[in-house]
Amino acid sequence: MIVAEAGTGIGKSLSYLMATIPVAVQNNRKVVISTATVALQEQLLNKDLPLFRRITDQNFSFIIAKGRQRYCCAEKLSVACGADGGQMAMFETKPKASDIAQLQLMYEKLAQGKWDGDRDSWPKPIDDAIWQTIVSEKHSCNNSLPAHRGCPFSRARSELDKNDVIIANHSLVMADADLGGG
Ligand code: SF4
Repeated sequence: MIVAEAGTGIGKSLSYLMATIPVAVQNNRKVVISTATVALQEQLLNKDLPLFRRITDQNFSFIIAKGRQRYCCAEKLSVACGADGGQMAMFETKPKASDIAQLQLMYEKLAQGKWDGDRDSWPKPIDDAIWQTIVSEKHSCNNSLPAHRGCPFSRARSELDKNDVIIANHSLVMADADLGGG
């Protein structure tokens, strides 16, 4: 494990990437980078890791790991955009027609594979009130049903296994450690 703390612009990121990635790739191991802020995760994803891969000619893949709450529940979304009685029960107050239209669009895009269910990858900001009706939550999740194989959160988690470098955050890494790690 490496813990890096230094002023902005000193070169922490490139230093720890140089120290870890070639060794990990050589030994078929994963590198998990844990950051404190979303801004730093995005910097690694969009700038530091692509730059490092380009200048070193290393062949590795990377991905960002997000918490469950960044993904929608496909089951809730299908109910929320439906026209049956179950739909209304999901909202604390009567939803606006524009909210239902947005949910229907999200449902279609998810079904067509044109949206991955990640809140951050939807082209416009999603209102908190809408998101709360469809967010993936552990306590309401029953992933044993075959119909839930297309679950956005489960799919995102299985993608982590296919990548060499995982950009996470402290809370995810600590939660994972609390569960025994791995
Ligand atoms: S597995 Fe859980 S979170 Fe995923 S779609 Fe099914 S109920 Fe929702």
